[in-house]
Amino acid sequence: MTSSEALEAAVREARRRAADEAERMLREGAKALRGSPERLGEVEKGLRNEALKAGGSILGQAMALAGNGYEGSRRACACGKTQKYMNDREREVVTLLGVVRLKRSYYWCAACHRAEAPLDVRLQIEGTPFTPGVREMIGRVDAEVAFERGRELMGALANVWVSKRTHEQVAEGIGAEFLPERRPEKRALPANRRAVDQLYLSADGTTAPTLDGWREVKIGAIFEGHRGRDGEPRRDATRYFGDVTDSEAFGERWYQVARSMGLEDAHRVIVLGDGAAWIWNLAELHFPGAIQIVDWFHATERLWIVACACFGEGTPEARAWEKAAEDLLAGGRVERVLRRMARLRPRRAEAKELLREAQGYFRNNAARMRYDRFRRLGLFIGSGVVEAGCKHIVGARLKQSGMRWSHEGLRSILHLRLAVLNGDWPQQRDAA
Ligand SMILES: [Zn+2]
Repeated sequence: MTSSEALEAAVREARRRAADEAERMLREGAKALRGSPERLGEVEKGLRNEALKAGGSILGQAMALAGNGYEGSRRACACGKTQKYMNDREREVVTLLGVVRLKRSYYWCAACHRAEAPLDVRLQIEGTPFTPGVREMIGRVDAEVAFERGRELMGALANVWVSKRTHEQVAEGIGAEFLPERRPEKRALPANRRAVDQLYLSADGTTAPTLDGWREVKIGAIFEGHRGRDGEPRRDATRYFGDVTDSEAFGERWYQVARSMGLEDAHRVIVLGDGAAWIWNLAELHFPGAIQIVDWFHATERLWIVACACFGEGTPEARAWEKAAEDLLAGGRVERVLRRMARLRPRRAEAKELLREAQGYFRNNAARMRYDRFRRLGLFIGSGVVEAGCKHIVGARLKQSGMRWSHEGLRSILHLRLAVLNGDWPQQRDAA
């Protein structure tokens, strides 16, 4: 029988069986619902499982009809020698439609002892019990929720039950492919693009629990901005990156990602930070000449702290002092804010210390607080994008109660979440 004859025979058989199955399911469903409409939930779930089973059978047949990967009695081995055909072997693979069995040709190399089924490689199921579809589903679910929860959700929603440990391994395996040491940021810029108007570079640090205690996770957000018709800044394409790493390695990455977003010819480059020194040090090193801006909310929060320490928590005096200082700050008059601070005479030692710290903060960051000028230029003055990124990327998934990550596990799931958020994974197929 030729392969097209085999296909036609299989199609006839499938058509007959599908008609029988459909008739049986329709009769049973109609009977159940006629007597007890309240059984709809049960009937639909039953039908879905049968539909999955029928689909699994079709998938198995289609794979069998596509061949077993036989490449003759001998084939080249990666070691340079020759692999010998041994026999056809059966294996199982977990698909989105249940477990499917397949038979494929098996080769062995006497020189390097490599055993290989070429079909497994082509189907991308070598060394894994799962199809690409199942792996993608595991990755998508586990990027969002804890492994145990992912196991329950996928079982309940897709009827694919996989152990928690397997969820962990598969998801971490996908995330590991996005580690910077494996995948340097090399996205090419489109050829006919326009230079970016405003390129914002922001960074922030948070923490996540590991087996060795809390570790710092640094997150960066780079986004394009432009000035709207109303003069207010607008945010365009945004890209996030991050890692459990020192600031030196983070800075290298920051620079790479910024370049991939048009750093070279951007009209204005702006670094937004909360005031942490490591961010400004990296900015001086990698982005000399960039406009540096201290996040407006962090700056005004400092004013609040000083006001409450010197005049009492939330008192009218505290409010009045803060309001006046905030107005000066909005006008970029940091020196006058500092003069007002110098006139404060708190009695408590704790308040004195807070005031002293705040004075240092405003003195060191004065040039980064010319908010009047930043507003005139139509720039963003808040680092909310990267802070929301920290909360979403790290807070919502990586630091839930009871979690303790291995260093590798933390980095892998962090990069899986970044890949999903940036739209790098799952890969978008070309529109048909
Ligand atoms: Zn070999």
